Amino acid sequence: LAEKEEVFDYIVVGAGAAGSVMASRLCEDAARTVLVLEAGAGDGHPFLRIPAAVMRALATPRFDWGYQSEPDPTRQARTERWPRGKVLGGSASINGMVFVRGQAIDYDDWARGGASGWSYAELLPFFRRMEATSVGEDDVRGRDGPVSVVEAWAAPGLTERFIDACADLQIPRNPDYNGHRQEGAGLAQANLRHGARDSSARAYLIPALRRPNLAVRTRAHVGRLVLEGRRVVGVEYHQGGRARIARCRRDVVLCAGAIASPQLLMLSGVGPPQTLRRLGIPVVHDLAGVGENLMDHPAFSLTRGVRLRSLNQEATPVRQAVNGARWLLTRKGPATAIAAQAVAFVRTRADLDHPDVQLHFASLAYTFADGKVGLERGGGITVSANVSRPRSRGRVTLKSASFRDPPAIHPAMFAEVADLETLARGVRVVERIFDTARFRQITVDRPYPSWASERDLHDALRAEANVIYHPAGTCRMGAGPDAVVDARLRGQGLAGLRIADTSVFPSMVSGNTNAAAMVVAERGSDLIKEDERRPAA
Ligand SMILES: Cc1cc2nc3c(=O)[nH]c(=O)nc-3n(C[C@H](O)[C@H](O)[C@H](O)COP(=O)(O)OP(=O)(O)OC[C@H]3O[C@@H](n4cnc5c(N)ncnc54)[C@H](O)[C@@H]3O)c2cc1C
Repeated sequence: LAEKEEVFDYIVVGAGAAGSVMASRLCEDAARTVLVLEAGAGDGHPFLRIPAAVMRALATPRFDWGYQSEPDPTRQARTERWPRGKVLGGSASINGMVFVRGQAIDYDDWARGGASGWSYAELLPFFRRMEATSVGEDDVRGRDGPVSVVEAWAAPGLTERFIDACADLQIPRNPDYNGHRQEGAGLAQANLRHGARDSSARAYLIPALRRPNLAVRTRAHVGRLVLEGRRVVGVEYHQGGRARIARCRRDVVLCAGAIASPQLLMLSGVGPPQTLRRLGIPVVHDLAGVGENLMDHPAFSLTRGVRLRSLNQEATPVRQAVNGARWLLTRKGPATAIAAQAVAFVRTRADLDHPDVQLHFASLAYTFADGKVGLERGGGITVSANVSRPRSRGRVTLKSASFRDPPAIHPAMFAEVADLETLARGVRVVERIFDTARFRQITVDRPYPSWASERDLHDALRAEANVIYHPAGTCRMGAGPDAVVDARLRGQGLAGLRIADTSVFPSMVSGNTNAAAMVVAERGSDLIKEDERRPAA
């Protein structure tokens, strides 16, 4: 039974990448009260702090929702694990920490498609105010924002070799892919401060905890929105075995991420009516786009054994102890390694104006299956290619009317054959990189997978390509009947609701999605504040 109801100006659901930014910006004004409800616990565990230890956090139920996708008809009906952070910082507490803004054209497409105000030029001030970095040029990079961005630890002899090999193939060296142009190869930029993960929970939310107008509740699982007609007036959440209602005077801001935000809307009677009726959920508001437009970056990895030392040799128990001790003392060394040491943004066809594939270079030979990382013995490297701006779309829907059950995730990775073809071209680029004299000199001779025909390669991609945990788009922002929020992040046809997380992306950004999630919340918090100053409609 619900007990005592509390009232706040704003309720932020989810303290992940976007929610942490949103809550901290909203409570900057002491006159505004803000409640944050996060289903997971605190982020203090060393696996979440030490960058290289994150592999151990993945697939741990304590930190990870551990979703399993439904069979994908475009990939031989395979299912796969979809890790999502269930902890302060959300997925940004278990992610690879590679910091990428995306291309200007990604956001310009958002604006052209009906999300007015979200072009890259309009977002640039928000990207700059979010970050503190010494990388790149003053006119485009931020120098004193909350999130620390540094160049990632680079494996000696390997990372530069990758960047040089790219240059051999006319992929230019780019010292700042978050600067004026994305194209090219360069050192990965990382969300790290003093060698430790700098998620937005660390950078924004935890420093804001001292403000008396901010309340953050962890292990608080929101089960549904409370609606009066078409106005969202609060949420019902479950904490310590009890159901509670929290009410808000202004907005509930959904920041539960691309899987849970549409799930919560549907559980509350907002979504495609046929889905809701099938499960006996009363339809409060018919919003057909909820859960549609699911996208992720299709990816495929190639590994090579190398005769140089790589992170594989740093992963033995003895070396882990040495590296861990070094990290404790100096905050430096291989323990600060993030998911990639270098990245490249590549045009796979000469007639393209913009990069269509991203490469991640890791000085580590690994396999990744079922959410678990497997390390090869001996030195090795992995280069994975992914489609920057995929066209295929899947969907998230409900399996049951209970908030305790996971939703159904239906990826359709290769629904558009163009994505399969783009990924195949990306794989060919990786093969050419491995085939440069620089890499042939150090590669250990053994049989590696190869594909004589494009058809063989396409088959291999259908059999093995995977998502890279960048789900987005399931509460699309824009205009038209399928849009779930308008360009001010207000729920279509609903009062008192905003959504601010990767679910609102109208189309995919070219790169890892954490920075884009944070910029949605940065600008979104300004929109909310602006609307407070307007007379009520
Ligand atoms: C394994 C992995 C590796 C990744 N690597 C990178 C990378 O290297 N670089 C990069 O830029 N991006 C990376 N990403 C993606 C990036 O972390 C996400 O795009 C980003 O965190 C999404 O932000 P969000 O705010 O939309 O959602 P999240 O950060 O997932 O936050 C959602 C929050 O809402 C909470 N929540 C959900 N449902 C409820 C509920 N009902 N009640 C209360 N709370 C709820 C969740 O527990 C979570 O804390 C990776 C992601 C994963 C999982």
